[in-house]
Amino acid sequence: MRRYKRRIFCFEPMSDFLKTVAERVVIYDGAMGTSIQKHNLSVDDYWDKEGYSEILVLSRPDVIRGIHESYLAVGADVVETNTFGATSIVLGEYELQDKVREINIAAVKLAREAANSFNGTKRFVAGSIGPTTKLPSLNHISWDAMLAAYEEQALALIEGGVDVLLIETSQDLLQTKCSIAAVFDAMRKAGKRLPVTAQVTLEATGSMLLGTEIGAAQTALETYDIDIIGLNCATGPREMNDAVRFLCHNSTKHISVLPNAGLPQNEGGRAVYKLTPEELADFHHRFVTEYGARIVGGCCGTTPEHIKAVVEKVANATPAKREVGPIAAAASASSLSGGTRIPTSSSTTSGTPPTAVAIIGFPCDIASMMALGVPSVSEGRTKTSMPCIN
Ligand SMILES: [Zn+2]
Repeated sequence: MRRYKRRIFCFEPMSDFLKTVAERVVIYDGAMGTSIQKHNLSVDDYWDKEGYSEILVLSRPDVIRGIHESYLAVGADVVETNTFGATSIVLGEYELQDKVREINIAAVKLAREAANSFNGTKRFVAGSIGPTTKLPSLNHISWDAMLAAYEEQALALIEGGVDVLLIETSQDLLQTKCSIAAVFDAMRKAGKRLPVTAQVTLEATGSMLLGTEIGAAQTALETYDIDIIGLNCATGPREMNDAVRFLCHNSTKHISVLPNAGLPQNEGGRAVYKLTPEELADFHHRFVTEYGARIVGGCCGTTPEHIKAVVEKVANATPAKREVGPIAAAASASSLSGGTRIPTSSSTTSGTPPTAVAIIGFPCDIASMMALGVPSVSEGRTKTSMPCIN
């Protein structure tokens, strides 16, 4: 894998987004997908591509702009572009692979128009980059093909003018690394350094879909020149608590937390999210004031009411101080092998000189995992559905 030196873009001044994160709590919007569902759109609205909600930035821009505005109106600092699945990988499944640039640029324009229509504090636009429908660790797609698709999307988001690139709902560490590499390639081509966030998704078991636990993910991602590491989707804040605390205690990056409105309940075949706005606000207050997270918001099932409660409770809260220096660490294989715990970043010696830090990303390709007897693989737990409809 290509290595990226730090300070590639050393002449870029610190972005307004990161300046704001350094100064105060920054609050993201809530769900896009579940908000779209409330509009009861017709097949025509989807240009006969039902299920592909990103097409709405072209077919029903009024709906998407309205959803952005609903979150900005309650005080969200950041709105995410409706581009979660806007790579050629996903677009190709709807025979729309030639519309990557058009959809991404249109989506940024809608989010920007909405953000600019609000006075007062500066609002930001985050370019959403989802996990696609392929898992490279399971050989669904090659690294190079995935890299090219992500780079194409990232270039369009940068051209459209996003303030931050948001890699989210990452369930496969190899896919996460690929998207980060692509984003940095795109920024190099565009000659522009934007803040980069990488958010992983932990299942209720506490590990990523293919078994990577949070210590391994953090240790592997810490090596990249990304600005923010975080969590989103799959579970609610209650289930994320330990991982949020771990990240805040071990990562040198800013921490973002965008949970679902609780674990989804199945009611008549529909996913229903029951966490109340007050509950989400209470959890975020803890994440900010006790652990030091600075970026909070919502994922599936969260509504403007949820974000309103978070703004009221957390916007003026003082984040706990985090003083985490580089820590020598090897990514843990404990959740993969089910055997002896290899030292994690939480159990290694701090105080190692930064220049001597050795951080090793554990190989998360499927062959290595199977060689280790990864329980989730040997049990055939290789579902590939991407549950986030954020
Ligand atoms: Zn989600």
